Amino acid sequence: MAIREIITLPNPILRQKARKLKEIDSDLQTLIDDMIDTMRDEPGVGLAAPQVAESIRLVVVEYARESENGEPEEKQKLYVVINPEITKPSSDMVVGIEGCLSIPGLVGEVNRHESLAIKGLNRYGKPIKIKASGWLARIFQHEIDHLDGVVFTDRATEVWAPSENEEIVH
Ligand code: ZN
Repeated sequence: MAIREIITLPNPILRQKARKLKEIDSDLQTLIDDMIDTMRDEPGVGLAAPQVAESIRLVVVEYARESENGEPEEKQKLYVVINPEITKPSSDMVVGIEGCLSIPGLVGEVNRHESLAIKGLNRYGKPIKIKASGWLARIFQHEIDHLDGVVFTDRATEVWAPSENEEIVH
């Protein structure tokens, strides 16, 4: 296990359409473990493989809802999804503030589907389906966008540099 370097814009890998994974081998397991370590080290709530310079369709997400006093309301859940696809996007859209480890120093207001489902494979190649709403749905939309070379500033209605005491969720 190791921490990988997170690439930032304007690295062209972040603008490529990542390829679908056909084979689940031991190198992939190492990459998944490294991505989890890297996400936790930052810390971030999600990471897409292109952010560690691997142009493949793989995301990791770890998020726990927080109550108003900042305590986690539920146990953190770790998701590893290979070849993720969004299904059943809600027609309801919600605005939220996003940041990105690949775009340091900027945040933006982005409109996302309030809820959706994600289908794909888990790290062992077994088909999975995840229902997500709220922040979890937002994180998945942000990470899956990375697989298509899309970053949040492409979708943001407004982008700004946050002040030091502004909290950013990556
Ligand atoms: Zn990002």
